[in-house]
Amino acid sequence: MEPDIQRHTRGKLLLEADAIQQAVRRIAGQIDRDYEGKDPILVCVLTGAFLFFSDLVRQLTIEHQVDFIRLSAYGYSTSPGKPAWLMGPSLSIRNRHVLVVDDILDTGETASCIETSLRMLQPQSIQFVVLLSKMSRRRRSVLCPYVGFDIDDHFVYGYGLDLEERQRSLTSIYHV
Ligand code: 5GP
Ligand code: MG
Repeated sequence: MEPDIQRHTRGKLLLEADAIQQAVRRIAGQIDRDYEGKDPILVCVLTGAFLFFSDLVRQLTIEHQVDFIRLSAYGYSTSPGKPAWLMGPSLSIRNRHVLVVDDILDTGETASCIETSLRMLQPQSIQFVVLLSKMSRRRRSVLCPYVGFDIDDHFVYGYGLDLEERQRSLTSIYHV
């Protein structure tokens, strides 16, 4: 949309800002319904989820808390290996309902690593919320009831997702 035009001319538009915001509202509505009275903690996976997360929590009407975690960059690769845990959460999640909010579910390695680590902190429940999912690349099965868009296997950027650590602030999503 408008702010993108000044900064960005290459790449192919995949998801326009309006479509993204519509998906954010839809997911917020689902969470409102499913977590009414449960006071969940929404955990943002830095850095890629930062815009999705901030738009999502502002659409919620239920009581909730926010927190942040960071794993080592491990990026878009097919090489095996596990991301290392770098930060958070800072709130106690013991006996709490946790919603982990990430930008994209690709192979599922990151999500399954997050799930294993957070389960050790004994939350009452954990669910994943992702804006994008590349089902065809999944190596680990991850249950994710809140998905914005299922996309084909191409590298995407914008709306929090990076292209070599740039272009994260674009309001739409593009592919190379
Ligand atoms: P995983 O393969 O563990 O499910 O995803 C790992 C991480 O790779 C994601 O959280 C995201 O940061 C990054 N990633 C996967 N696909 C893409 C993509 O198309 N674009 C960008 N910018 N990052 C991606
Ligand atoms: Mg990520």
